[in-house]
Order: sequence, then C-alpha cells, then structure tokens
Amino acid sequence: MKRDDLLDFYLSGNKYRKLFSLLKSDLSSYGRILSYGGIQSNAMLSIARLAQQKNLPFDYHVRYASPQILDAKVGNFFEARRLGLQLHISSAASDEALGAQLRASIEDDTLFIPQGGASPIALEGVAHLAQEILQWQEANDMEKLFVATPSGTGTTAWYLQHVLGERAQVLTIACVGDESYLGAQMARALPSRYAPTILTTQKSYRFGMPHLDLWAQYEAVLAQGVEVDLLYAPVMLQALVENVGVWREGYLLYVHSGGVIGNATQKVRYAKLFGA
Ligand SMILES: *Cc1c(COP(=O)(O)O)cnc(C)c1O
Repeated sequence: MKRDDLLDFYLSGNKYRKLFSLLKSDLSSYGRILSYGGIQSNAMLSIARLAQQKNLPFDYHVRYASPQILDAKVGNFFEARRLGLQLHISSAASDEALGAQLRASIEDDTLFIPQGGASPIALEGVAHLAQEILQWQEANDMEKLFVATPSGTGTTAWYLQHVLGERAQVLTIACVGDESYLGAQMARALPSRYAPTILTTQKSYRFGMPHLDLWAQYEAVLAQGVEVDLLYAPVMLQALVENVGVWREGYLLYVHSGGVIGNATQKVRYAKLFGA
C-alpha cells in the first residue's frame, strides 16, 4: 500500500496530488477560490486547506446541506469551515447546472476549481505519484505490477495510467455513478493511449450509502493497522477481492487516497443503520 494518506493531515491522498501544481504556485494574483460539490467532499476540505495556506477566501457552493452535517463538530465540513470555507446553498437543479452557473460568474481574479478537482491541473501532481511508483517498481524488480485506486471523477486513475503507460496497469472502480458514467468522465480528460481497467462488483453500492460488505472491508484493513476512508476504498477493496483473477499473476500496489477525516460523520451513519 502506498500511504499517500500521510502526505498532509488535511490535504491527504490524491487531493494533495491533484492540487499539487496549485499548492506550489504563487496564487497572489487571485482574489478568491471558487468551487462546488458535496457538503462532505474530501476535495472541499483539501481546497479549504489550499485557500488557507494561500490566504485566499474560499467560496463553496452546494445544492444540499443536511442539518446534521451543518451542526457536526467533526468531519470534513466542520474542519473546512474552521479553515475559512464560506458556504453557499444553491437552488440549481443539478450539479452540472450549478457548475455552469458558477463558471459564468467567474471574474478575472477568481480561481475556479471544478467539482472534485477534475481538471488538467491534476496532471502534474499525479505524474509525481506515477514517478514514485515507477522508481519503487524498478528498485524492487516487479515486472508485472497492478496499481489499484478507486475513482470518483476518475481523474486520478486516468492521469496515473497515462503516465505509467504500459509499465503498470491501473485497476479502478466507479464509486460515484456506474462504469459508463466513469468512462464518460475519463473521456473528457486528456486523450491517452492507455486506459485504466475498470473493475466491477456483483452488487452495486450506492455512493455514500453504508453497506455491511463495505464495513467488512474497512475492518479487514483496519485489523492490519491502516485506516482507509469509508466512501471509496472499501468499494475498491471489494472489487479486488471479487476479481483476484485479474491481478493474481502480478504484484498489487494499493494507493491510499486519504479521506479519513470524513469517516467521523460516515461512522455516525453506520452506527444509525447497523449499530456498528
Ligand atoms: C477524491 C477521492 C477519490 C476519487 O478521486 P478521483 O480523482 O475523483 O477519481 C478516491 N478516494 C478518495 C479517498 C478520495 O478522497
């Protein structure tokens, strides 16, 4: 397992990679950062951290915010607000409509970050991740290597495979929406000769919805001393278990994509549903 979750407390995992090019840039010509998405999103917390580090106001738009999350004293939203996030609740009919509306409102000094950080700015940081993996692969003489990482927007998996090329095969799973949604998302990124392998599971798991299969995967890795996030990683782990035949002939590297701060609020949902 590659412990990208340890890169930074707030900016952990693939969000650190995706925002890397902005983190190291001088953003002083900007007056604010603007983004949108879910109220519990890991990207939201990471962008809040970026904004705080760069001393920029951060306006974040959501379409729905549950009272429990607004009042919670733990979790992504709570932490993001402490870092300075300013919340706006929109009446847009869909996330796409909200995104389009915000894009139209951008001023010259606005740094707009698309939902989930799905943007070509992600390439530079994800390429660093790929280089680290390739060095490790070479040092350990692992000719046939599979690299597993779960997908939301698919940005991480797509760029990772693009840079790894034929030297290692990325395995991923669509955690938000289905395979065709993920395929369409990926097709919007830069063209590449190499595509990640999208695994599937027998059951379909609705994004963010607690499920005992997923809890079992979470607990299995926890028993080995590593906490993973509850939204993405357990779905990927379930897919890896169900598709052992795909990767059994090679080495398997799991990229820990962070997101553990969000577990505090997700565990409350598990406790409510299953008494976990
Ligand atoms: C954001 C996130 C993902 C999905 O990353 P994409 O690049 O949007 O596919 C996966 N795992 C965790 C823990 C995340 O926070």
